[in-house]
Amino acid sequence: MTTQEPDDLLLRLRRFRSDYFPRHQQRFQDLVAEGQHPKTLFIGCSDSRLMPYLLTGTGPGELFIIRNVGAFVPPCDGSHGLHGTVAAIEFALLELKVERIVVCGHSHCGAIRAAYEGVADEALALKSWLRLADEALLPVRPSPAALRRSEQRAVVLQLERLMDYPMVRSRVERNALTLHGWHYVIEEGEVHVFDVQAGDFVPASLASNAGTGPYAPYVEGADHTQ
Ligand SMILES: [Zn+2]
Repeated sequence: MTTQEPDDLLLRLRRFRSDYFPRHQQRFQDLVAEGQHPKTLFIGCSDSRLMPYLLTGTGPGELFIIRNVGAFVPPCDGSHGLHGTVAAIEFALLELKVERIVVCGHSHCGAIRAAYEGVADEALALKSWLRLADEALLPVRPSPAALRRSEQRAVVLQLERLMDYPMVRSRVERNALTLHGWHYVIEEGEVHVFDVQAGDFVPASLASNAGTGPYAPYVEGADHTQ
């Protein structure tokens, strides 16, 4: 045994148990007894600056989260491979029966930049994965404005890909599911939501709803159990 101080991560684990958990113990125990019933599937970029719980003011049991490089959704191509993202979408819809899917990209996204500029030769999986952004790229040099536009276009592209999945499309068409496209601007602390009527992303502080995707707005309290 060494007399080394506990590392920072270990200290944080202990702090969770001693500081946070006692204040929320009942909530955690209820979630175990009753199971999880999150209403929202959040598909977000892995970027460390994107904080789904903080942005949405949610806590344990409220968001089912998929994070990957770029917040991308693979195309519905019937390949049934080891697709973690698609498997989680299926679980969220079929087991958890979520009512909303949020796709959340963000400013200064390394995935979109890498889609323009390329990645290390040995990053073969990453190189393939980034092709999911191809249709969102613009035929210009990646200026800050072009990158931001591409980040937003990538969000809309993923919503369109989601609609190619029959289990998504059928639920959206019978109002059992709504899709939301978000672009989080880190330096402004503001999420811009995609509004199909406006045909653009609108700052949440000015928007009339949490984003319509290409489809109907989510209505709080409406019957989504069909
Ligand atoms: Zn990103």
